[in-house]
Amino acid sequence: MMIQLRNVSKFYYSKGMIASGISRVSLDLDLGEFVVITGESGSGKSTLLNVISGLDSYEEGEMYINGEETSHYVAADFEEYRKKYIGNIFQNFNLVNSYTVYQNIELILRINGYNKAEMRRRVDEIIDRVGLSAFRRTKVSKLSGGQRQRVSIARALAKDTDIIVADEPTGNLDSESAEGIVKLLSEISRDKLVIVVTHNYDQFEAYATRRIKMHDGKVIENILLYDTGEAESGGSSRTAAAMTAGSTVRLGVRNTFNIFYKFLLLLIVFLFLVFAVSSQYTTFVNKKYESSIMGYNSYFYNYSNDRVVLKKSDGSVFTEEDYTALSRLENIRSIAPNDVLLDTSIYLESDMITLEVFPHSVSEYQGEPDLGRLPEAEGEILVKGSADDLFMSEDTAESMLDQTFSVWMGDTGEMKVTVVGIAFDEAEDESDYSYFGEAYLTEDQMQQMRTDLYGQTSTLVTTINGKEMEAGMGDSYYSVRKSDRVAKGKAVVQEDISNFYLNEESQDMNMKAAIGNDITVSVKNMFYQEKIKLNISDVYDEKTYQAKTGDNDYDMNMGAIFISPEDYSTLFDKGNFQCSVYLSDLKEADTAIKAIRDLGYVALPMKDASIQADEDIISMIEVPIAILIILAIFIISYIVAGLILRSRSTYFSILRMLGLAKRNIRWILEVEVLLVANIAYAIFLIVVACVSRDVIAIAYLKTLVQFMQPRDYVILYLFICVMALLISDWFARRLFRKTAMGSFREEE
Ligand code: ADP
Ligand code: MG
Repeated sequence: MMIQLRNVSKFYYSKGMIASGISRVSLDLDLGEFVVITGESGSGKSTLLNVISGLDSYEEGEMYINGEETSHYVAADFEEYRKKYIGNIFQNFNLVNSYTVYQNIELILRINGYNKAEMRRRVDEIIDRVGLSAFRRTKVSKLSGGQRQRVSIARALAKDTDIIVADEPTGNLDSESAEGIVKLLSEISRDKLVIVVTHNYDQFEAYATRRIKMHDGKVIENILLYDTGEAESGGSSRTAAAMTAGSTVRLGVRNTFNIFYKFLLLLIVFLFLVFAVSSQYTTFVNKKYESSIMGYNSYFYNYSNDRVVLKKSDGSVFTEEDYTALSRLENIRSIAPNDVLLDTSIYLESDMITLEVFPHSVSEYQGEPDLGRLPEAEGEILVKGSADDLFMSEDTAESMLDQTFSVWMGDTGEMKVTVVGIAFDEAEDESDYSYFGEAYLTEDQMQQMRTDLYGQTSTLVTTINGKEMEAGMGDSYYSVRKSDRVAKGKAVVQEDISNFYLNEESQDMNMKAAIGNDITVSVKNMFYQEKIKLNISDVYDEKTYQAKTGDNDYDMNMGAIFISPEDYSTLFDKGNFQCSVYLSDLKEADTAIKAIRDLGYVALPMKDASIQADEDIISMIEVPIAILIILAIFIISYIVAGLILRSRSTYFSILRMLGLAKRNIRWILEVEVLLVANIAYAIFLIVVACVSRDVIAIAYLKTLVQFMQPRDYVILYLFICVMALLISDWFARRLFRKTAMGSFREEE
């Protein structure tokens, strides 16, 4: 005996009420039977059918399947049972409308782990049997109701189970289609147990072998119309196999594309996600970058963002070896040895024009001058700047060529230079300081200027007869000047200094008392200290000033100590304590700076020298905003993707109805969403490739491409994949919150 029910009852609990679905039902049903269950609405027909097919549990009595008692069965056992014994035919067909006839039938075989060849053979055979060969490749949505019910029967047959259950299989059909379906079911019942629920017994009368009538949850009539005898189980004893990985992927891929609008919508969601997240990220990076350019810099004048200022960690002078080592590093565009001059502008002055320029060594110059040539000998200079702003016009620039200019740095150190080359430099935007230009000089002159700069910026203390006198800030007293009229080791000082050597009691005003005495001059600046001892060889006054010093501006330099150029060099020509390198790729700045520090230098990147608070404020405000925006993008995508997937819940309920396990459904869903995510990402990469090859010219995308690094692409990809998995798992969880029967009922 296939199915035996002994006093089986099923109750429904809803809203505190207990309703009886079926009560104390006893039945014996066997293979070969065509059982027709009738009864008025609410009499318990569906409940009985669902209990028999293991969709619903029962509370009282016993049910035997093939002689096996089932009261100890848990959900998984019933799932097994359904897979092995039950083929379902539904009133509303429960077919996948976007699948073809073939695919719908094949689906149940995939779920049950059939292999490819077996599937093809069985599906074709069954399509033939239900008379749908002509519609093999037709989508179910194009079929009539009768044809759909045939597909649904074909699907129930495909698995070759012993029991076929059908709840109102003709309920949605016209009488002619219904006739065909009934005939088909009766044919099937020859070697199976077919149980049909109907409220239209007349349709089945001619074929039914048993009639069961229900009323108020009880069987009130159970008539055997024909004795079918002992039918042999024609069903396979095939134990249900799990769905294969191949089938999972196959179904996932099929589902991705089979509803085009759904695919398109989901694709748009993921494209939105990829572009929104990446552009939000790059805008953030870009803002940080721009703020570091624009950040006001209080120490350095030349604050170009690619500049990194270096010192040696022991505070010593840079040597050729240092420059060589630095130039070997990657990402170094150029090295400016005379760094201290980079922040000091000089004036080029003639009768005609005065220009303010920043001095550079000619070795830093790149490219060819527009007019003339590069400086080669001492006293030659190349001037570079905007034609309109620095030179006023190209003509003025041209007229400067071969002219001699005075160079002024601060208030001392006049040099004569000849302009041998002119280069035009067009300012890129308003914010560029195009009023200033650049001057390129030979290394000797740079060195001379650096020496003068140390001379101007050091603190000088002169010890005269035991008294320490500091050089004044506003005047020239006790400051140091070089003169080629003074011999090495000697000093020529103003006659007032003699006062330090006069005896207090002495009335004798000997203005030459200083001569022959020693003084020491000590120099101190941020880089070094130096001290020399000099012997006063002469004193000057206003009248003898020019003859003794060679200088003719007494008002400007009175009180200064004149020393020989050699001693001046000893004090101030100390080499470079600070140099700057320029980076070629700003995005890789951190790597380059690390490499520089690893070589043992102290590095101050100009981009970090901007006032720190600015960047802190950016981080404080921008980071949470960026996170919030990315979160919002995330949630929007999540919700929209969920809504799109909701339209698919019918499909997944069908899979559940057909007995597919939760995890298989989740995998199919994951394959589907991941595939869309990957397509979206591929499109993103193609767009990026087009932008970087200038096929597409959209400014916003250009910035995006510029600031995305390989690492960011990987992170973005992982983010998109995780997002896809989250969406599919979230949806799968919602789907499984209801039982198979629950989601089935919702479809009814
Ligand atoms: P039929 O299929 O003959 O119309 P059913 O088997 O659907 O009858 O229902 C039998 C009885 O069980 C009815 O009284 C019905 O109200 C009740 N019932 C069926 N399903 C549920 C349910 N999910 N919750 C509560 N009561 C239910
Ligand atoms: Mg019903």
